[in-house]
Amino acid sequence: MWDVLVLLGAPGSGKGTTAGDLAEVRPDWIHLSTGDMLRDAIKSGSPVGLEAKQCMDQGQLVPDEVVMKIVSEYMEAGPTDAVYLFDGFPRTDAQAQLLDEFLESSGKGHVSHVFLLEVPEEVLVDRIAGRLICRDCGKVFHRTNMPPTKESMCDDCSGDIYQRPDDNRETVLNRLKVFHNQTASLIDYYGAKKILHRVDCLYRDRALDAILTIMGPKS
Ligand code: ADP
Ligand code: ZN
Repeated sequence: MWDVLVLLGAPGSGKGTTAGDLAEVRPDWIHLSTGDMLRDAIKSGSPVGLEAKQCMDQGQLVPDEVVMKIVSEYMEAGPTDAVYLFDGFPRTDAQAQLLDEFLESSGKGHVSHVFLLEVPEEVLVDRIAGRLICRDCGKVFHRTNMPPTKESMCDDCSGDIYQRPDDNRETVLNRLKVFHNQTASLIDYYGAKKILHRVDCLYRDRALDAILTIMGPKS
């Protein structure tokens, strides 16, 4: 069976960083980031990538069906027993419904936990505007809060570090608006199902510890 865990939060709340930290403690969980998958699609020049690029550059969401398709294809190609850690998906009510339908119709599992990463609004813009990412392994750094040891080189894999084209102040404000208008309603969607857990993500280790405490020790 599949057990699906979801990291929900505004851009800059720490979904990618927390997912990376969790990957070290729980390498058995499969990390799925739709943002990373879409960036890979853009890099490879696929039709999905071409469609996604325009939306992403403007800080808008990629259409629900497009995202659901890449997620379902990825899961169907993977193991039948797995814990999935979703980062950045679902991001709209429609995506949450499509996901539930997909899981139900395949009879392979369900969403068991949704972690809402909470950070004061005023912190988000600075986090994103200073964010740097490894082109090869996706590790997240920050110009001032978490700089790489060597300039523009990843501490983990020596890959090239870059700033995402959508991580500029203008696009960030747009993405925050999109979060409030299109994603925040998921808090109610999962709250009503009693699977939402609020996690303070102002400090990195606190979020990690909270999630591991809720999930219990490795079985
Ligand atoms: P962040 O959470 O910092 O915005 P992501 O890498 O998760 O970063 O997303 C970057 C962009 O990729 C989004 O602004 C959006 O255009 C696109 N994207 C990622 N996930 C989804 C999704 N589930 N649905 C629609 N668009 C998405
Ligand atoms: Zn790296």
